[in-house]
Amino acid sequence: MLELDGLSVAFGAKQAVRGLSFGVAEGELVCLLGPSGCGKTTTLRAIAGLERPAGGRVAVAGRVVADADGSVPPPQRGIGFLFQDFALFPHLTVAQNVAYGMTRRQRATDTGRVDSLLERIRLGHRADAYPHMLSGGEQQRVALVRALAPRPRAVLLDEPFSSLDASLRAGLREETVRILKDAGVTVLMVTHDPEEALVTADRIVLMRDGKAVQTGTPDALYSRPVDAFTAAFFGAVNRLPGTVEGGSIATGLGALPNPGFADGEPVEVLVRPDGLTLAADGPGAAMQVCGVHFAGASSLVRLGAEHGAPGHEHLHARLPGLCRHGVGDPVRVGIDRERAFVFGGRSGPPA
Ligand code: ATP
Repeated sequence: MLELDGLSVAFGAKQAVRGLSFGVAEGELVCLLGPSGCGKTTTLRAIAGLERPAGGRVAVAGRVVADADGSVPPPQRGIGFLFQDFALFPHLTVAQNVAYGMTRRQRATDTGRVDSLLERIRLGHRADAYPHMLSGGEQQRVALVRALAPRPRAVLLDEPFSSLDASLRAGLREETVRILKDAGVTVLMVTHDPEEALVTADRIVLMRDGKAVQTGTPDALYSRPVDAFTAAFFGAVNRLPGTVEGGSIATGLGALPNPGFADGEPVEVLVRPDGLTLAADGPGAAMQVCGVHFAGASSLVRLGAEHGAPGHEHLHARLPGLCRHGVGDPVRVGIDRERAFVFGGRSGPPA
């Protein structure tokens, strides 16, 4: 439904988007994720027709809407938007706001559209209210259905929940995704919040410096990151030096399978806190518990070298439930192989 092929956007000498390619299938929800300034909003604006590409092309439903030869004006692209500052028109009622983007013909033939959308967000009884009479969450839901009212081919959402209170955000996000999925709409949503992308997206495009680093399902990016940047973007990681020894990678916490690095290549091993194992004895590195923080469903454990011996000074483990080990206890620390990632130096997986 949406296709970007080598899209580049520049502001003077600044290359904000550099050769970006990905697609969004009909009915799919794709999150464009990445740190501040990596080019997410610029990508969305280029798809919407608000920025002119310097190179590459954008297609909507198989029709090229922007390339080196020209550009289809934004209203003719069949795309709906919901931007961060989703301002409703203050002088129009809720129903008038929702109907705003529909063509005269749609209003004449698609009667009942506004009412059914307002029912879907449980605001049918507020059709005649003005925006200032609604809560922030209610206004956001109205803005969402305003974007859906003209039955766009796809909707673009730019950080749609960031202006909302944290207590509202999770519930509204869930409801928004349900409304979008029920409507079968194709969605491209920008966020800088990895958790938001993991819980909402069918697929994620992770961006860095104007380029796509990895595209795939939430599970693929979280469990099979292509590089250290991707692994660390989705949460805290412990970093350990590793040595390639034939079929295995030796670390201070034990050996891991070698995914294909040559002997002598410098490698780095990244392990999430929940990928460290702790035991009172047995195999693993001898370390000492330096701190325990109970956090409800899990405990965070800070680990240091035993009795001042050299070793990994600052490892962090996350264990389910209450930690059985106390501060000062000697422990054996190992690695869950399924949750460790091996990358070449600072560059990525084996060539
Ligand atoms: P954030 O998460 O902070 O919104 P982003 O990933 O959406 O960031 P963009 O807003 O797309 O990033 O910006 C990408 C780069 O392009 C940034 O370096 C930004 O400063 C620059 N940029 C964006 N818009 C313009 C503009 N109109 N003129 C000049 N530079 C711009």
